[in-house]
Amino acid sequence: MALHRRAILGGLAGTLPAPLAFGAARTAPWPGGARGAVSLSYDDGLTSQYQYAPPALRARGIKASFFLTLDNMQDRVAEWRAVAAEGHELGNHTVHHYCGLPTTRPERFVQREVVDAQVRLNTLFGRQPRILAYPCGVTDLGPGTPNDQLHLYAGLLREAGFVAARISDGPPMSRRYARDHRFALNAIAPTYATEDLSEALAYLDLTVARGRWANLVFHGLAPTRADSGDTANAVHEAILDAIAKRPLWCAPIGQVLAHLGVGGPIAPKAG
Ligand SMILES: [Zn+2]
Repeated sequence: MALHRRAILGGLAGTLPAPLAFGAARTAPWPGGARGAVSLSYDDGLTSQYQYAPPALRARGIKASFFLTLDNMQDRVAEWRAVAAEGHELGNHTVHHYCGLPTTRPERFVQREVVDAQVRLNTLFGRQPRILAYPCGVTDLGPGTPNDQLHLYAGLLREAGFVAARISDGPPMSRRYARDHRFALNAIAPTYATEDLSEALAYLDLTVARGRWANLVFHGLAPTRADSGDTANAVHEAILDAIAKRPLWCAPIGQVLAHLGVGGPIAPKAG
């Protein structure tokens, strides 16, 4: 399998086909006759996420994926159990959220940061398939070229029982692309550095027009945007409403992967 990373998508709005008729989708419908799929990720296991995201999602009947960093969430297990009980997916975002990866002893890193987090999450929330979201989207583990590094990382994840992992950039994916690049699933965080909705809306429109799968990532949520990375609640909810207005199937990442035939047992090695 060719594992390569696509360049960060820049200027997406300028690449949109015109006109953006929904009928332009060239592939078979997604579940429910939808013309595209979208998954929502909330990364890092932040307090503001379980405060603000579930009510907004509940009001619109949407289920999402929350990628938990153990360092951030282990004092809030009851709250995250409540999130899971609503039908949301809890994924793995490592123990410490390191964004600089080691060039040596990659097996030790994956064991301590990823597999140990998986074992702990399964202990806290029940054993089930869990996807990894790479902290900061970085996959440059071990020596070699970026391609070598991703291949090494993905191989170690496969050995540990993972079936997929998500990066933090790249355009909406075709079904075939997602199957072939299941350890580097594309996503964007369109409101990380701006309150401007245009990138998110363009991404959703491209997803519909091409019959693809979009992953949108959020970090902190807040009544008003204060810090870089935060999304104001009004902006977050405007994106949820934009999804609801489009012919999109909105489902957690694991559910979309299952629809694509990507799945199987998750058996992380303990210790
Ligand atoms: Zn993160």
